[in-house]
Amino acid sequence: MTITERTLDLACAIQQIAAPTFAEQARAAFVRDQFVAAGLLDVTVDDLGNVFGRRPGAGRARPVLVTAHTDTVFPAETPLTLLRRPELIAGPGIGDNSVGVAGLLGLLWSLGDAQTEGDLWLAANVCEEGLGDLRGIRAVIDRLGETVAATLVLEGMALGRVYHGGIGVRRYRISAEAEGGHSWLNYGRPSAIHRLARVAAALTQLEVPPNPRTTYNIGVIRGGTSVNTIARSAELELDLRSEAPTALAALARHVEAVVTAHQEPVAPLRIEVIGDRPPGFIAAEHGLVQVAVRALNRRGLAATLDSGSTDANLPLSRGLPCVCIGLTTGANAHRPDEYIDTAPLAQGLPVLVDTVLQTFAWARI
Ligand SMILES: [Zn+2]
Repeated sequence: MTITERTLDLACAIQQIAAPTFAEQARAAFVRDQFVAAGLLDVTVDDLGNVFGRRPGAGRARPVLVTAHTDTVFPAETPLTLLRRPELIAGPGIGDNSVGVAGLLGLLWSLGDAQTEGDLWLAANVCEEGLGDLRGIRAVIDRLGETVAATLVLEGMALGRVYHGGIGVRRYRISAEAEGGHSWLNYGRPSAIHRLARVAAALTQLEVPPNPRTTYNIGVIRGGTSVNTIARSAELELDLRSEAPTALAALARHVEAVVTAHQEPVAPLRIEVIGDRPPGFIAAEHGLVQVAVRALNRRGLAATLDSGSTDANLPLSRGLPCVCIGLTTGANAHRPDEYIDTAPLAQGLPVLVDTVLQTFAWARI
């Protein structure tokens, strides 16, 4: 069996273990066992569920850290049925990020006995998705960030992309409460849903600049108990993003102003920040970005420089060298019909190995 096939098999095994954000323990335990079986040293799982392992280097170069997030956007009860064909594998979370986590092992298998100049640290971290707010990678970087020369973040389906910028994300939960009552008998009483709907309508009227690209989305809205009840409570979750910290801050101020404008003394609206991903960038000319680009080019792949919202935000926001790179191609991330293409992984793994080895070389300069 080729290393590509082994990595795909491992990705399928990882995908079969449910790992919604905040409940990654079972998957983390599986990855820990894989780290041990692969001969890594200092294999540990921290309080959050981040799995660490170290492959010792031969020289005295600074270590390089490679990470992949274990969590998925899918609730625990989601059926994890896989469709496996020679050219593709489909199933919830297979690309984001089961194949990314499997890539950590694929990297070790590909390296074989090859020596690196410094220690190679691997981390399978929790809490990249949803409301995880990057707390997994934050703990990883708190522990290792200052000691490593660079961090490489793996995302399963991003082969060909080199993320060297982290866009800023701020998330709010806005909630309304009211006395409630019967829809007929108590008609006229305030409704939490009617009130929140007015706030939501006002939010959808906000104008954002196309440049720097700035976006917003009300992704969740919930409340009420039945169609003939005046709702006692309702809430929405709002996601704001921008390439520029200043534009993000301006949008956040507008959102808070909308909420203030809809305040009533009897039953105040509540607004809380439920997510804050700091922005950060390294230049396209940065040595680490160029290492990742050249590794792709050497395999005949074009490199697309990009910014996104990934675990890379965290080290980048602290001024630490980091890029997020992919392993294969695929589509429909965050949907049950998510899939990966199998063939490109045979390029993606050597690109990863090359990127790691050249990162050590770059770090020496
Ligand atoms: Zn992901």
